[in-house]
Amino acid sequence: MKAEIIGIGTEILLGHTLNTNAAYISRKLAGAGIDVYYHTTVGDNKNRLYESIKTALARSDIAITTGGLGPTIDDITLGVIAKTAKSPLALKKKILRQIKRHFQKRGIKMPANNIRQAYVPKGAIWLANHIGTAPGLIVKTNKKFIIALPGPPREMQPIFENEVLPFLENHIFRKAVILSRTLKTTGLAESQVHDKIAGFLRLSGKTTVGIYAHPGQVDIKITTKAASLTQANRNITKIEKKIRLKLGKLVFGTDAQTLEGAVARLLKTKTISIAESCTGGLISSRLTDVSGISKNLFASVIAYSNKSKVKILRISPETLRHYGAASKEVAANMAVNARLLLKSDIGISTTGIAGPSGATGKKPVGLVYIGLSDKNKVIVKKFNFTGTRDIIKFRASQAALDTLRLHLLK
Ligand code: ATP
Ligand code: MG
Repeated sequence: MKAEIIGIGTEILLGHTLNTNAAYISRKLAGAGIDVYYHTTVGDNKNRLYESIKTALARSDIAITTGGLGPTIDDITLGVIAKTAKSPLALKKKILRQIKRHFQKRGIKMPANNIRQAYVPKGAIWLANHIGTAPGLIVKTNKKFIIALPGPPREMQPIFENEVLPFLENHIFRKAVILSRTLKTTGLAESQVHDKIAGFLRLSGKTTVGIYAHPGQVDIKITTKAASLTQANRNITKIEKKIRLKLGKLVFGTDAQTLEGAVARLLKTKTISIAESCTGGLISSRLTDVSGISKNLFASVIAYSNKSKVKILRISPETLRHYGAASKEVAANMAVNARLLLKSDIGISTTGIAGPSGATGKKPVGLVYIGLSDKNKVIVKKFNFTGTRDIIKFRASQAALDTLRLHLLK
């Protein structure tokens, strides 16, 4: 079973919108064992869209379009699909009722334009959209399928997940499942991770392992092809166990798990306070992305200037003068005082030089100190990060969260 994805929208061609729908759908189709051979992007133009769908159906079993299902005149998808499948547009009352309900819930009268969205190719299967007005559609033509989905990802994704995938799983003869799992690490460079798991990178057969480096993070992706989902999971788990033995604590999570999420889980009932300088609140921002963190995160202080380090965090002016703000001593004092002044179990601090300016003879751009204090001890780690200002900030937040994670693992 082969599928193609057609992104519809002049704004994608112009580069104003990134075609994330194609990436999302491809990942999901791979998971369902459906091969994707082409991604096409076409503007809001009837003739060119017609040609694109025709071409797709000539070489694949399924053409999935996204976009152009809205109520305005430039939304042409329905008309073109009707022409391609040779089934004329007809009013579907059920869709009209749903669109009316959508507006009722918001206390708005349905604009006349939206009636257009209820005219769909005859015989189409209708896929409910619980977020917006444009329903998704499946149109069968000559034993092939055109699947039309709305453009906005937050509308398209639930329809794909809840309606399209189950439909495909019922209708296709599945040859194989392709499944991937990503193990996420931080703290080592790509080459160091490579050396630890080199043996697995040369696997031949149905299961393969690859390394993907991002700033502050190295992912290990295990991919397998199997006859069933159960078998695919089994293949992956077998290799995952072996890789985890090599990497130990380096792995902070899998797939959609985040470093901040891992930290939040490990904190349990412990409280923390954070004193951030060079990360400018990034660590706090990332931790507050985790729902329920209010029971752990007591307070954060962004003490960016030396004055605020003295006034708010009570760092002695002598220490600042003598060692400089980007120093082991200041990082230690910031972490201890964040913990004591803000009365938490753990204090975390960052101070350093994010660049591109600010370097001095002895202190290069990218020099960052991370402090951690609990009632027993204070530790400070020194890092020399590379990259642009935003990357250095991110790497520093990554290192701080990981320092906390490793501390909590003990
Ligand atoms: P609407 O009812 O919102 O008009 P639509 O189905 O007509 O929905 P479009 O008008 O084509 O969709 O696109 C609406 C918005 O959805 C775009 O402005 C863009 O933000 C987003 N979008 C469209 N296509 C894609 C895509 N391929 N990838 C990511 N986002 C997209
Ligand atoms: Mg639109």
